[in-house]
Amino acid sequence: MQDTRFLRAWAEVDTSALRHNLNVVRRAMPGHALMAIIKANAYGHGLDGVARALDEEEVAFFGVATISEAARVKELGCRTCPFILGPCFPEERDAIVLNGWRAAISCREEAEHFDSLARLYGRTVHAHICVDTGMGRSGFLPDELDGLMEYLRTLKNMEWEGVFSHLSAASEDITFTHRQIAGFESAVDTLSASCQFSYRHLCSSAAVFNYRVPSSNMVRLGRVLYGYSPMPSPHNKELRTTLTLYSRITLLRTLPGNHGVSYNHCYITTGPTRVATIGIGYADGYLQYLSGQGARVFIKGEYCPVLGRITMDQIMVDVTHMKDLRPGDLVEIMGPNVSWGELTRRAHTIPSNVIAGITSRVPRIYV
Ligand SMILES: *Cc1c(COP(=O)(O)O)cnc(C)c1O
Repeated sequence: MQDTRFLRAWAEVDTSALRHNLNVVRRAMPGHALMAIIKANAYGHGLDGVARALDEEEVAFFGVATISEAARVKELGCRTCPFILGPCFPEERDAIVLNGWRAAISCREEAEHFDSLARLYGRTVHAHICVDTGMGRSGFLPDELDGLMEYLRTLKNMEWEGVFSHLSAASEDITFTHRQIAGFESAVDTLSASCQFSYRHLCSSAAVFNYRVPSSNMVRLGRVLYGYSPMPSPHNKELRTTLTLYSRITLLRTLPGNHGVSYNHCYITTGPTRVATIGIGYADGYLQYLSGQGARVFIKGEYCPVLGRITMDQIMVDVTHMKDLRPGDLVEIMGPNVSWGELTRRAHTIPSNVIAGITSRVPRIYV
């Protein structure tokens, strides 16, 4: 394990918590396969470490956004097949065909091109039909589905392994989500008349515990896998924190009263103030939007308020109430005591922005 004494900031990833969170969903969703979403550097957890940790966990697919993420899964020697969640450029399709990665198909042109590449290479493409039930990002529209399956079945090098859709407002608009579910059920019905799909999937984290989708037999897990559920549910308390972001104190000083702290002196001390400077900033992914929002860090069992603006590489916190601190002392920036949800609220952003925003300067350490 890396010697953290020489690190200014690092993310500790608990691989047993990842496996635990998978199992929480397994228990809650009997009869469902799981797709582990590892796009965007596995939501900041590090794609390599997460792919390695989950490769033996019998997940059906690794959900990725790009060909390079899929290629990385292959380089790591994983046996779990990458599933490319969105559309790809024509130039990227050869790699999908040659590697047997799963492709999402949103229009006839894509299907035809994949079919011709598969013929060229003597392969079969395992594809999932994407249906747009309201997300407006990709997929066949409901009025394109009549006769679609009959046509797709004429493409002899394609195997139609799945059908899926994506919810656009599962945590915000329950009525609309029920409409999307009904749209999905009807799409599966129409398409299944001439094809048996091995996988039918609609729900990701915001829906997995809260909606029932009768035809579904797989869920796609991003945030819930990483311990964050966007919707209230009795299962939420079972989820474990998977990533703890640490930094360390670099400097301790006492500032006099009426002294500005950080850029544009947005914070001014009201009296003598013990200030700890800490080696993390927005270039590490500690979001700049947390400036002036009451953010706090956790040092030796106590909360310490962040003072003034977040700078690129450093923050300052008030430690006037604390004794016996020294440079090098450990600081929890996000984790069990300063939750991902708390930082999301304070930064007025969305959860994925907080976690996937942790940058490459931050080493990931797997425990
Ligand atoms: C990113 C993504 C997911 C994962 O979403 P979470 O809300 O993080 O679980 C699921 N499906 C698709 C199509 C995605 O692009």
